[in-house]
Amino acid sequence: MGESSAAGTLYLVATPIGNLGDLTARAVEVLRAVDLIAAEDTRHAKILLARYEIPTPVESFYDAVERAKTPELLRRLAGGESVALVSDAGTPGVADPGGHLIPQAIAAGISVVAIPGPCAAIAALTVSGLPMERFVFEGYLPMKPGPRRRRLETLKGEPRTIVCYETPHRLMKSLAAIQEVLGDVPMSVARELTKQFEEVRRGTVAEHLAHFEQHPPRGEFVLVFHSTIT
Ligand code: SAM
Repeated sequence: MGESSAAGTLYLVATPIGNLGDLTARAVEVLRAVDLIAAEDTRHAKILLARYEIPTPVESFYDAVERAKTPELLRRLAGGESVALVSDAGTPGVADPGGHLIPQAIAAGISVVAIPGPCAAIAALTVSGLPMERFVFEGYLPMKPGPRRRRLETLKGEPRTIVCYETPHRLMKSLAAIQEVLGDVPMSVARELTKQFEEVRRGTVAEHLAHFEQHPPRGEFVLVFHSTIT
């Protein structure tokens, strides 16, 4: 289907992952220019918008309402309004809302434009010290032990660097599962990137387990690791 010139544009706007200074100049321009900002959490978005004095109307667009709200957004886009999609942090759609809306907008012939910027996975990969030529993004490992183990089994022999998101309360279980399934593999743990307590620890899974046993995990984490012991 061809794109309609009368239709608006859906902008996928990356926002800071901690440091509010990381919003790009182009993101500011687009957020000011669009008719509507669809935000994962409106209160969270308004803090960023206030900092940059952006008066654009904001509507909520989080996982649980994405499917229900998509037809209305598509109708507005088709009617000529432009919409910016933002998540609470980083790049929309990357472990965040957008996975339903984006393909639907493309299928409807709407122009979809990326306004690139922060992404925790890419930031963590770049500081990991592990090979970056080829990598796989695994999102969050499953929460339950059985599915988590089965997911890790699929990563055995994976030649590319692996990147996973992690929460503080699941970190220890995930590290233990990685050690059990893959062994004491090389790993970089990035915590609170761009924030006050930013920390990047490089070592092996066993070293990270020992460290976080002494220092209970706090904040947001990205794990970057290999599937084999080197
Ligand atoms: N869309 C976001 C992106 O582009 O990075 C990711 C959203 S996902 C819901 C949130 C996860 O990203 C967190 O649980 C953590 O794993 C990671 N993350 C986000 N901000 C981070 C930060 N400042 N430092 C480390 N990890 C972060």
